[in-house]
Amino acid sequence: MTQAFSESFLAEMKDNLLQRKKQLEDQLLTFATPDPKQSSNYNAEFPRFGEEEDENASEVSAFENNLTLEGTMEQSLEMINRALQKVEAGEFGLCEKCNQPISQERLRVFPTATKCAANQGCQKVAN
Ligand SMILES: [Zn+2]
Repeated sequence: MTQAFSESFLAEMKDNLLQRKKQLEDQLLTFATPDPKQSSNYNAEFPRFGEEEDENASEVSAFENNLTLEGTMEQSLEMINRALQKVEAGEFGLCEKCNQPISQERLRVFPTATKCAANQGCQKVAN
């Protein structure tokens, strides 16, 4: 099988992905605890501002924000992990629709991209 990308480009992408992963994990840890039973799963903590009624109300809304944020960040983490697995498997950067290599410019901006951009000649992505 021919490599679609050079070793150095793949190494750059791996670094990029690992950095993003670290950032996400650090951010998640500021308001969530890692689930010991499930990797890449975090549980948002319920914040404690105080016992007054308005404080309780702020706690609930902060908790809801954290849950939403946690969900979004877990999804990003999941995509990063998947991209890292593809790097290991030698499948990184191949469009899931047309199986052609995704452009390097696009991958530098979106290392977790799984499809060509619609305007980059992908036969299978609708314009
Ligand atoms: Zn494609």
